[in-house]
Amino acid sequence: MKRVAIFAKEKPLCQDTKKVVLNLLKENDFPIDENNPEVVIVIGGDGTFLRAVHRYLNNDVMFVGLNAGHLGFFSEFELEEINLLPQVLKEEKYDMKSYRLLNAVISSINESKEIYAVNEVRIENPFSSLTADVSIDGKHLEKFRGNGLVVCSAIGSSAYNKSLGGAIVDTSMETLELTEIAAIQNNVYRTISSSYVVNGESTITFEGRLNEVVVGFDSETIHLDQASKVTISLSKKIIKLIDYKHISHVKKLKDSFIE
Ligand code: NAP
Ligand code: MN
Repeated sequence: MKRVAIFAKEKPLCQDTKKVVLNLLKENDFPIDENNPEVVIVIGGDGTFLRAVHRYLNNDVMFVGLNAGHLGFFSEFELEEINLLPQVLKEEKYDMKSYRLLNAVISSINESKEIYAVNEVRIENPFSSLTADVSIDGKHLEKFRGNGLVVCSAIGSSAYNKSLGGAIVDTSMETLELTEIAAIQNNVYRTISSSYVVNGESTITFEGRLNEVVVGFDSETIHLDQASKVTISLSKKIIKLIDYKHISHVKKLKDSFIE
């Protein structure tokens, strides 16, 4: 039997559901292991899923999303369907879907940090405008000046990227999408303006004196006094999700944004 952990949002409905799921799993003899699970059941929305991924970044796990609201991009089951879970897990009646994580290496004068993200990596300066040279595969594209830059994955294209006017990319493709946040256009700084979707094997770099920046990655942020380079690519690291219902990306988009 697979070792299972439950990762639930703080709100009462999710915590109550967690208790029910725990009992259900115990009745079905599943070992519960919060620290070293093989399966992580996520109870909450997409935001909760992102937090669960970062909690178990160094474990080889399979995620099952249980949505406590509308259908999410990362959830498979609804609350009313929790009784199905033990059987589905026991009999392994599912396919597996996997997504490559984004990887970003942030370099400053004396150190370098590596981060991972499901949705996107954002670099923003909340105090003053940020300037950066943007290159794709080492080829200089533009001198950017504005509030920030976002690089998202296909699955992340419907999150922050969408709010910025970026294109939604079908999740069957491996891509990186570059989207600007409030770019200044003048004689010195001129940017492409549109979102730019590139092949998933590409590398996107931001270089310059990146002072006082906030690097956001999914629900996480780090503040940097000074960075000089951010290099973003798709990692070999993947997240695995149980795919029981084969819900199409189109349906998820319709449920989330249309009706
Ligand atoms: P959050 O408030 O939980 O997330 C903001 C919204 O984004 C929520 O409605 C969330 O859905 C939704 N979401 C997350 N991943 C998505 C995806 N791949 N496709 C479509 N919608 C998605 O904030 P959080 O918990 O810190 O989550 C971090 C994420 O929020 C970031 O990765 C970023 O993409 C997004 N975000 C968006 C904006 C914006 O649109 N202006 C600003 C900041 C951050 P649930 O309600 O199901 O959780
Ligand atoms: Mn949320």
